Amino acid sequence: MEENFINIWEKALEALKEETSQIAYKTYIEVMVPRLVDKNTVCFLAPSSYHIEICKKRYLDLIQNTLKFLTSVDYQITFEAKDAIPENAEDEALDVEVVKGQYANMQVNENSQTGNASVDLKKIKEDAGLNTRYSFDNFVIGTNNRFAQATAYSVSQNLGATNPLYIYGGVGLGKTHLMQAIGSAVIDKDPSKKVIYCTGELFVNELIKAMLNPNMNESFKKKFRNVDLLLIDDVQIIAGKDKCQEEFFHTFNSLFDNGKQIVLTSEKPPKEINGLEDRLKTRFSMGVSVDIQTPDYETRFAILKKRAEEERYVIDDDILVKIATRVKSNVRELEGVFNKLMAYTKFTNNPLTDAVVDNTIESILVKNTNILTSKLIMQVVAKFFDIKVTDLTSDKRSTTIAFPRQIAMYLCREVADMSFSAIGKDFGGRDHSTVLHAYSKIKDDYDNNPDTKDLIDDIKKTLERES
Ligand code: ADP
Ligand code: MG
Repeated sequence: MEENFINIWEKALEALKEETSQIAYKTYIEVMVPRLVDKNTVCFLAPSSYHIEICKKRYLDLIQNTLKFLTSVDYQITFEAKDAIPENAEDEALDVEVVKGQYANMQVNENSQTGNASVDLKKIKEDAGLNTRYSFDNFVIGTNNRFAQATAYSVSQNLGATNPLYIYGGVGLGKTHLMQAIGSAVIDKDPSKKVIYCTGELFVNELIKAMLNPNMNESFKKKFRNVDLLLIDDVQIIAGKDKCQEEFFHTFNSLFDNGKQIVLTSEKPPKEINGLEDRLKTRFSMGVSVDIQTPDYETRFAILKKRAEEERYVIDDDILVKIATRVKSNVRELEGVFNKLMAYTKFTNNPLTDAVVDNTIESILVKNTNILTSKLIMQVVAKFFDIKVTDLTSDKRSTTIAFPRQIAMYLCREVADMSFSAIGKDFGGRDHSTVLHAYSKIKDDYDNNPDTKDLIDDIKKTLERES
């Protein structure tokens, strides 16, 4: 590459930095490595194809105009994804390294992805508790997760700068995927970095084991405090568990004080987690909190397209449109339909007819409504209040039983959409007006009493998980 283009690009970067947000600049622009193909053509090496997609959509004009402003040349701009770089591009790549340190890191990956080293990388990730299926490359960006993705990516490239990163949102929306992608990207960049991915549940279990055994106690501390990046998934589970909160508080402080990166996911923002100590709420809110919403139609379609590509599964766009139109609530369900259809094609070798597609969609959607029967609701509510399921259908009138019963009835109406008389029948043959009364009372309480609201929201989450 010509020496003077390096200078031009460095000047362009300065201008581009002014023109874009810090996150956009760091995530999409700074990571691009230019290669002059001929006098008027620049090819940018991008970390992945999604970087190219975003760059083309949002920054192509800006880059072109900036280069033109600096040189008066109308550069043609092309892009190439890192994984598409042919072997013999190495010489040019070495030149490029001078521009920004980025490419050196890419080379580490390139090398380690060939031969034996790739096995090691996979093993390092697995030892860290990561599932190699989750990466930034296969995370589809949409309006629902754009900011979360950009922040997560920037955290992966700059450990400790945004601390902690807190990702929250509903079930099946991609929190685990994004969190694991951070871990994976960090190891790709520098396999010597110590990463631990751990669910909140596993953290609790390990802590309990450690508490019972003094030797393990030390190794527990060492394990969690001796990392560059700690990923705790579904951290809300530690709420209400005093000893866990205490230990996590110290783990958090120790990492934080040493500039180590912490990433947390949860269903809710910190201040809305019931039973979470205030000092943890404060700490969780210290860095950046990002949320993931339900995906819109375009994103749902793009996720299906990406899955088909990944699996090399030939499927009509019409069918993907149909799935994306009808399966709306979360990505896990979307994938459920997709996987079922793919299995059908594989095992029967028959074409997908409208009927097969419709039935598959129905089966996933119906499963989710059907499963929320009064029986499941009663089980979950009984467990929650530590009473028996039979208490709920009994005549007992003490508050400890009557209140949970009213909540269970309310949920049957609200979540499972049952009629008042069907609910009455399932709750020991009560009449329609009794159920209506219970429903109105709890609904009123839900709207006016934050404690009841929190309580019911918690039960709803458990129901979502159990169904
Ligand atoms: P959560 O942790 O929020 O419950 P997950 O991360 O487990 O959700 O996501 C559920 C499934 O949907 C996973 O298989 C994940 O790979 C997929 N998924 C979610 N969001 C996306 C996305 N934006 N692009 C690609 N796949 C996604
Ligand atoms: Mg998850």
